[in-house]
Amino acid sequence: MVEASTAAWFGAAGLEVTGVEEVRGEVAVGVQTPGGQVVFCELCGRRARSKGRREVVLRDAPGADGRPVRVRWNKRIWECRSPRCGAGSWTERSELAGPRRVLTFRAERWAADRLAAVEGSVASAARRLGVSWRTVWSAVEAAAEEVAGDPDRVGPTARVGFDETVMASASRRRRRRFITAAVDASSGQVVDVFDGRDAAGLRKWVSRQPRWWADSVEVVCMDPHEGYRSAVNELKDSGGLPSAVKTAADPFHIVRLANQALTRCRQRTQQDTTGHRGRTGDALYGIRKLLLTGAERLDPAGRQRLWAALDRGDPYDEVADCWQAKEKIRSVFKTADPEQAADRLDDAIAYSQAPEAAPELHKLARTLKRWRTEIIASTTTGTHNGRTEAANAKIKDVKRSARGFTNLNNHRLRILLAAGRKPGQTQPVTKIRTRRPRFVA
Ligand SMILES: [Zn+2]
Repeated sequence: MVEASTAAWFGAAGLEVTGVEEVRGEVAVGVQTPGGQVVFCELCGRRARSKGRREVVLRDAPGADGRPVRVRWNKRIWECRSPRCGAGSWTERSELAGPRRVLTFRAERWAADRLAAVEGSVASAARRLGVSWRTVWSAVEAAAEEVAGDPDRVGPTARVGFDETVMASASRRRRRRFITAAVDASSGQVVDVFDGRDAAGLRKWVSRQPRWWADSVEVVCMDPHEGYRSAVNELKDSGGLPSAVKTAADPFHIVRLANQALTRCRQRTQQDTTGHRGRTGDALYGIRKLLLTGAERLDPAGRQRLWAALDRGDPYDEVADCWQAKEKIRSVFKTADPEQAADRLDDAIAYSQAPEAAPELHKLARTLKRWRTEIIASTTTGTHNGRTEAANAKIKDVKRSARGFTNLNNHRLRILLAAGRKPGQTQPVTKIRTRRPRFVA
């Protein structure tokens, strides 16, 4: 029997530590329940008789220095004394580990915490614990299912954002596989992820949500993606979503379309005027990043360089026009006044569809016209997918940490485990160094 302080260090309630030794680089901790316990049969209630002990070896969470820890639990076996009772014999339970488990509860929590923090993969946790992938995954899966199934995890979601990510890259055998994340656009909380990025996937997912949730939605924010929009419209028509739901186009993606038009126009003009792709020394190539910088962030020298290069490399002013259009579109999202935003958008559309404008701008104008209502809705409701994109960055971290997923359910659980962690759910830690010394000499 080792003293009580060792038991406190080990931290398994109701067990005494019988010894700690190092065996080939591993720490081995012996534990058992103290003697003199009185246990009763669960079936007949008679006092049970001890049949001795049997050693069970468990894997515990690694020690503070990273050394593997194994626990030798000298488990007591009890037996019912009554010959007429069917209880037979049983082994004792404890808060250390569940029955027939290889991992202690603490090791299971350690693995789940690691994966919730997106530190390493299931395989790396399994290596650290010296158990199989399956053993670690079943512990993590249980923790993740608890997070995913928590009824308080997702509340009413007035603004929901949908955004796609690649779940698995294409290989020789299969095509690229997409998943869509539904995110609370106000808080960044991941509501769920589901298969695909088309209308059918979104419709199916929304129809599986509780009625109160669907009724709480006021704005749906999305990339300018026809599949998502038609799904939302169909849901509004069929009553799957309230008919007052507004569809908003994410400002970032709209500005990105303008940036893409500008870049394509620059590349085409480059080819047309020089006959080759941009290279060092070419006027347009030298300002490729300057063109995409917001006008308000250009200093006088930057402006000077921009216009000088356009004078040299943009004979028909098409690139300059695209730059103007891009700035007009950016200005749409810089006003809080909905009428002014609509006026600015209409100005950008008129400017882009002028007969003399570049073909890239004509294409952009068509997209802007198709999404005019949604762009204005994003300015009037102040909705954007900034937080949705941030949540998606985390989803990509999860994907990278597992080097891609082939099983959507596992991927979904891992995402919800990582996304479901709120601050304050971890054990509070007392500060042991403070700014001001407590005792002043
Ligand atoms: Zn009994």
